[in-house]
Amino acid sequence: MSDHHHHDDNHVREHDRPLSGPALRVKALESLLVEKGLVDPKTLDAIIDTYETKVGPRNGARVVARAWVDPAYKQRLLADTRAAIAEFGFFGYGEDMVALENTPKVRNLVVCTLCSCYPWSVLGLPPVWYKSAPYRARAVIDPRGVLKELGEEVPDDVEVRVWDSTSELRYLVLPERPAGTEGWSEEQLAEIVTRDAMIGVAPVTVPAGSTR
Ligand code: FE
Repeated sequence: MSDHHHHDDNHVREHDRPLSGPALRVKALESLLVEKGLVDPKTLDAIIDTYETKVGPRNGARVVARAWVDPAYKQRLLADTRAAIAEFGFFGYGEDMVALENTPKVRNLVVCTLCSCYPWSVLGLPPVWYKSAPYRARAVIDPRGVLKELGEEVPDDVEVRVWDSTSELRYLVLPERPAGTEGWSEEQLAEIVTRDAMIGVAPVTVPAGSTR
């Protein structure tokens, strides 16, 4: 893991190690704004939650839905992930990206064992559990156990591949398109693609009672 170097400005808010440079300045600004009564910490938390769960992952969901309906796009996504994502206008800070295709026989799971590197150009801010020590350790040691705990028993004949992100290389899981979505539009498909599916900790499912 000696190549796991970080650019400080890519990792604002993300690190366990002492804050430095821009991260410190952000923290100082946040404290000052709260102290002056200009922002409510609860509002900040709400904004962060929005980027963790709503706005951020919608980018990735659009990429996945496009790959499901457009075989040529899927090929481009798998061959040159960063360029295919850039077709949507989603750009990172220059880190490379690789899309990992789930198949009936292969499940991909993304982690950052050292800290919290995350494909934020397509998924926004990493969720708290992604940054937690237990997930970072257990995803590598016992990925099937992690998936089982999250409610999914992966059959023994399905290979689970674990991918360790770095600041130079981030991963996006291309989940399997669920049965029962034949004929759905790209927009309809994008609605059911979840952040967790694109990290690899859950399959995409058709919500109960979903009528299209
Ligand atoms: Fe990291």
